[in-house]
Amino acid sequence: MTTSRVINFGAGPSTLPQSVLEKAAQGLLNFEDTGIGIAEISHRSKEFVAFISNVEALIRSQLNVPPTHSILFTQGGGTTQFSAVVLNLLARHKLLHPELTDDERVMDYVLTGSWSKKAFLEAKRLGGARANIALDARKYSKDGVSFDNVPPHDEYAFSPASALIYYCENETIDGVQFSPDPSAQTSFPFTILPRERSGLLPLVGDHSSSFMSRPIPHLSEHAVIFAGAQKNIGPAGLTVLIVRQDCLVDVDAAAKLGATPVPLCLSYKTLAEGRSLYNTPSLLPIYITGLVLERMQELGGLAYFEALGRRKAEKVYAAVRAGEERGVFQGKVQAGSCSWMNVIFNVLGSGAESRFLAGAEKVGMKGLKGHRSVGGIRVSLYNAVTEADTDKLVDYMKEFVSEASS
Ligand code: PLP
Repeated sequence: MTTSRVINFGAGPSTLPQSVLEKAAQGLLNFEDTGIGIAEISHRSKEFVAFISNVEALIRSQLNVPPTHSILFTQGGGTTQFSAVVLNLLARHKLLHPELTDDERVMDYVLTGSWSKKAFLEAKRLGGARANIALDARKYSKDGVSFDNVPPHDEYAFSPASALIYYCENETIDGVQFSPDPSAQTSFPFTILPRERSGLLPLVGDHSSSFMSRPIPHLSEHAVIFAGAQKNIGPAGLTVLIVRQDCLVDVDAAAKLGATPVPLCLSYKTLAEGRSLYNTPSLLPIYITGLVLERMQELGGLAYFEALGRRKAEKVYAAVRAGEERGVFQGKVQAGSCSWMNVIFNVLGSGAESRFLAGAEKVGMKGLKGHRSVGGIRVSLYNAVTEADTDKLVDYMKEFVSEASS
């Protein structure tokens, strides 16, 4: 097998562990000793059904998902969930509060970056309720227009009885992430969220680009958590949902009361009742994800990856700061809001960014170009990027700074 792989710092689809890919190559030919490859076998075969329930168990045990929540597998990525969470949670709200008018059915969105903004726009487009901005972090940015921070807790303005409260845990494009330290002003403000009369929270978290990189604070209080697999745990084509069981609602009963009808493949109840096999699932991405999760478990689970993620991010941010002191780099995100997964910075000077990227590529490092909407450099440090890979990048950054400032 070829060993000419480069280090991939891309934002997703991202790098996967070589050992997993080699094992997956075997599974393509012969899945679990069935004599049939994973891309060829029936999703209803007993071997695949056993495999998918083990994938669920691996997520449940490593993330500590309580029995109040179902773990579901679907397709369509985070983008499909921008629509699905709105449709399912509005249906739930209609069933819980049929007396309210649609204008009173508010959905609160916390905007800390490009992905939460996109989700908010979809909520507005689907209509039937009032999509409200509970916080727009751009107001607190250095330039007044960019997403570069998580504002302090007293800046949020939630509605008293939301149908859903939405946030994006890690903003992949802007490099903004909530702090894992619950006492930090840049952590998610769980303590001030408006609860339903039942005491439950209609809280929805997009965890696409930080899923399985560290524990999820207040996981058991979430209504829905969703994540595409293609950053930390697998290839594109698999979306993981963690849904509190009171959100597995009868969408047809809600439609009879006037809620927007929900396509069956987007209905959380349909997915749950079909044990994620209502229609043909993405077998190969589920298989590779299962292999990644097994390997994660062998290495020590989330505690291992949290410690590793912290170290990798600290090393890269230290290199950015050292470059800032010499006038070569400029970090974009405000202190306390910096993502562990996606480190964003500019390389200063005419043509310097292209030189940085070309130099990195020459020594076998790719995927460092920032998203087209914000530019600059983006270093994605997902789980499969090793500490040695990170050290190599940091050495390169140091060399670049010393050459540029000499
Ligand atoms: N949410 C976040 C935080 C993302 O990073 C992405 C994609 O990168 C999405 C949502 C959209 O995911 P998808 O392209 O799988 O629909």
